[in-house]
Amino acid sequence: MSAMWTEYGETKLPETVVSDWYSVEKWKLCYGSLLRPVNGMQLWKTHTNVVVMPPPDRIMPGRPKNNDIIREPTEALPSQVLSAREKVQMTCSNSQQVGHNIRSCKREVVPKPPKKPQGRPRKKQKIMTEEE
Ligand SMILES: [Zn+2]
Repeated sequence: MSAMWTEYGETKLPETVVSDWYSVEKWKLCYGSLLRPVNGMQLWKTHTNVVVMPPPDRIMPGRPKNNDIIREPTEALPSQVLSAREKVQMTCSNSQQVGHNIRSCKREVVPKPPKKPQGRPRKKQKIMTEEE
């Protein structure tokens, strides 16, 4: 438009250059038969036999945010869930009695047996000496 204005000024108007097919009248003719007005939402038909359900849950990539779960007010807190753990009976590792642990044990402290070496047991050296 600017280039046209500097070239021709008022002698040539854009309406005379642009094709008639870009006019609003032609646009209305094109879409008048395709686009029909829609009734308001209150006039829509309702279905009672169709139950709309949410889409199934997708497991998204990455670590799940367990601690960020927003819980319902009636839902049990994680600390309340752990209360079942408290019901586990403790056994004393000193006297092997149920109902107390080694910290509150009244019996004399029995020394623990020496620990076995960790890991895969090493090959016996005897076999090597027998072959030699
Ligand atoms: Zn004990």
